[in-house]
Amino acid sequence: MKISDLYLNSDKPVISCEFFAPKTERGFQSLNKVFEKLKQASPAFYSVTYGAGGGTARPTLELVCKIQDEFGITSMPHLTCVNHSKEYLINYVLELKENGINNILALRGDMPDSDGFVPHPEGLRFAADVVGLVGELNHFCIGVAAHPEGHPDSTSLEEDIQYLKIKLDAGADFAITQFFFDNEFYFKFLEMARNIGIDKPIIPGIIPFINSNHVMKFAKINGTYIPDLLKEQMFEAGDDRKRSTKLGVEQAVKQCRELLDSGVPGIHFFTLNNSKPTLSVLQRLGIN
Ligand SMILES: Cc1cc2nc3c(=O)[nH]c(=O)nc-3n(C[C@H](O)[C@H](O)[C@H](O)COP(=O)(O)OP(=O)(O)OC[C@H]3O[C@@H](n4cnc5c(N)ncnc54)[C@H](O)[C@@H]3O)c2cc1C
Repeated sequence: MKISDLYLNSDKPVISCEFFAPKTERGFQSLNKVFEKLKQASPAFYSVTYGAGGGTARPTLELVCKIQDEFGITSMPHLTCVNHSKEYLINYVLELKENGINNILALRGDMPDSDGFVPHPEGLRFAADVVGLVGELNHFCIGVAAHPEGHPDSTSLEEDIQYLKIKLDAGADFAITQFFFDNEFYFKFLEMARNIGIDKPIIPGIIPFINSNHVMKFAKINGTYIPDLLKEQMFEAGDDRKRSTKLGVEQAVKQCRELLDSGVPGIHFFTLNNSKPTLSVLQRLGIN
């Protein structure tokens, strides 16, 4: 199933969940339980992250196949061009195709040990180039990343949206955003995107977080704004998983209600490989 068809044809919001590929057999076993539990919410598709540099290339491939073959759910591997030659990327993408995968989230990724991005000498520079390479096979539905608060490397939001347009014009079918805690950034971004002629789905990414300290660290790296009250509550919850999860779920429910009321075509949940918080959000929203 192509994910673009889900967005086109679904009469209800398309719910998707993101997981990271475990590196151990034990990790795979515990994900089985997560998938079993999430089944009750009937998510439309699952995506699996790719460790920039290729550290999870095999586990990512294994997991997307498992999701489709054993759980019967459409899956989408992420793919970055960090430290990869074009030849490597083409071979990997062909392997995905041979394994029945029809969707890819095409990304640039970040260098593991450096601030700036340095392309592989025989590789690619931007996510738009990955879109072009994947698109040449005429097989995949392609998603890309969007950054409603601006990508940390870019000089302005206007510039970033132009680059998003380039990725979509290069053949991508939809975009999924980085997580955000203030919906106004998403609404403004969407309006700016529509104003420059972007008409493809831009799906909000929502994180029902489970550790406040961790999510504050990610937010700092991504340049994500945290509203004052939420920040105060996050500091209070700190590493306390129970308090953090309660806060993460409350925040996600609040954001999702407003997003769904505005008519978004779907919501993408960064699950952090946990079923409970995402399920709680969906139950509170009446989507399961
Ligand atoms: C939903 C989602 C899932 C993700 N999954 C993963 C994952 O699995 N693995 C992982 O490592 N990372 C992942 N990331 C993070 C992502 O790799 C980083 O945000 C990375 O820094 C940028 O990737 P991009 O695909 O947006 O890059 P690009 O679109 O290439 O943008 C990167 C930077 O270059 C600029 N730029 C783009 N095009 C041009 C151009 N033509 N000329 C000049 N400047 C340009 C942009 O403004 C931006 O500053 C994910 C992000 C999101 C939102």
